[in-house]
Amino acid sequence: MYNIAIVKYGEIGVKGKNRYIFENKLIKNVKNMLAPIGKFNVYKEYGRIYVDLGEYAEDYEEVLEEIKKVFGVVGVCPGIRAEKDYDKLKQLALQLLEEKIEEGSESFKVTSRRGDKSLELTSQEMSKDIAGFLVYNVKDRIKVDVRNPETTIHCEYRQNHVMVYSDTVPGYGGLPVGTNGRAMSLLSGGIDSPVASWMVAKRGVEIEAIHFHSYPFTSEKSQEKVRDLAQILAKYCGKVRLHKVNILEIQKAIGVSCKEEEMTIISRRFMMKIAQRVGEMRFCDALVTGESIGQVASQTIQGLTCTNASVSLPVFRPLIAMDKSEIIKIAQKIGTFETSVIPEEDCCTVFSPKSPVTKPKLDRIEKSESSLDIEKLIQDAIDNMEVEVFEF
Ligand code: ATP
Ligand code: MG
Repeated sequence: MYNIAIVKYGEIGVKGKNRYIFENKLIKNVKNMLAPIGKFNVYKEYGRIYVDLGEYAEDYEEVLEEIKKVFGVVGVCPGIRAEKDYDKLKQLALQLLEEKIEEGSESFKVTSRRGDKSLELTSQEMSKDIAGFLVYNVKDRIKVDVRNPETTIHCEYRQNHVMVYSDTVPGYGGLPVGTNGRAMSLLSGGIDSPVASWMVAKRGVEIEAIHFHSYPFTSEKSQEKVRDLAQILAKYCGKVRLHKVNILEIQKAIGVSCKEEEMTIISRRFMMKIAQRVGEMRFCDALVTGESIGQVASQTIQGLTCTNASVSLPVFRPLIAMDKSEIIKIAQKIGTFETSVIPEEDCCTVFSPKSPVTKPKLDRIEKSESSLDIEKLIQDAIDNMEVEVFEF
C-alpha cells in the first residue's frame, strides 16, 4: 500500500538561511542510514524530505525504523502518493481508512492541505468533502471525531501529486550530525560514555572517540568491547574514529611517585590531557565524558573540579544530573547496553585504590603530579597511539 516515507524535521526548519545546509546534511545522513538496506531515492520538495520506498514497499516498517534513528528527524510517516487527481486522492483516503478500520480504529478525522491553488476547494472544504465521501463509503464502521480522533487521515493536493498518510513513527529529534562542530569523546567500555557520546552527537556534533587501556593488564577482549561500541555509535554518527592509547606506563609512574588514594584522579587528569591533545590534533572543539555527579568517588564535585582543571577545552557532560536508571534506559534504546554490560576489566579498575580520595584538593593533586615528567609521559603515550575508523 505505502510507497513513500515522509520525513518530518523540527528545529532545522528555523535556521534561516542555513536551512538548506541542514536539509542537505539530513538527506545525506538518511541515505547513509539506509545504505545497508539498499539504495533509496531521498529528496527535498517544498520544505519536506521524502524517501521513495520503491522495491522496499513491503518492508516499509524496517525502513522507517532506520530513518527514525537519524538525528534531526522528528517523525517519519508512511504515505501513499499518486499522480495529481482529486478523485484519486479520495480513493487513497478511503483505502487508508479501510486499513485503519481493519486495525481496530474507532474514530477518525480528515485534515487537508492544498499546495496547488488551482483546486477550487479551500483546504477546509477539501476536508469536509473527503470526510463526506469516506463516511458515505464506510457507513457506521467508524465514527467521525474531530476533537480527539484515534486516526487522522492527512490528505494533500500538491502541484505534482496527491498524497495521503496517517501514522507517525516518532524520531529522536536533535540536529543532523555534522552541523555543529566536532568533539572528542572519552569512551570507556562502560554504560555511561556511549550514552554521553550519543547525546552530544544528537545535537549535530561529529564524534571522535578516545579509549585508554593498560594492555597487557587489561585484555584484548576489553578493547574488542570498545570497538563494538564504536561500531554501534557509528550507526548514529556516520563515522567514528577511535583512538586507542595505552596508559600503562603513566599508571606505573603515578603508582611509584604519588599517593595510592590519588591514583584514580591523577590518571583521570592524564586521560583528559591526552584527550585534549589528540582532540586538538583532530580539530575537535570540545571533550565529552560520561560523568555524573556523585556516581563514583572520582565524580564528586571536588573530583570533577580537579578533572576539569586539567584541560582548557570545554568538557561536555550530558549525563551530569542523570540517575543510572535513566542512563540505562537510553543505553537500551540506542542498543549499547548489552555490549556495555559484558564484564571486562577497565584500566581504572585494574589500578584502582582501595580507598580513593573523595574530596581531592586541586593544589595537592597538582603538587603530587609535579614529581612526574608529565610532558614526556603524555607524548610517549600519544606516539604509541593506535587509530581505527568505524564506518557505518
Ligand atoms: P562508564 O560507564 O562510561 O565507564 P563510569 O561510571 O564507569 O563510566 P568512570 O569510570 O568514573 O565512570 O569514568 C567516568 C568517565 O571517564 C567515563 O564516562 C568516560 O568518559 C571516561 N573514562 C573512564 N575510563 C575511561 C577509559 N578507559 N577510556 C576512555 N575514557 C574513560
Ligand atoms: Mg568506566
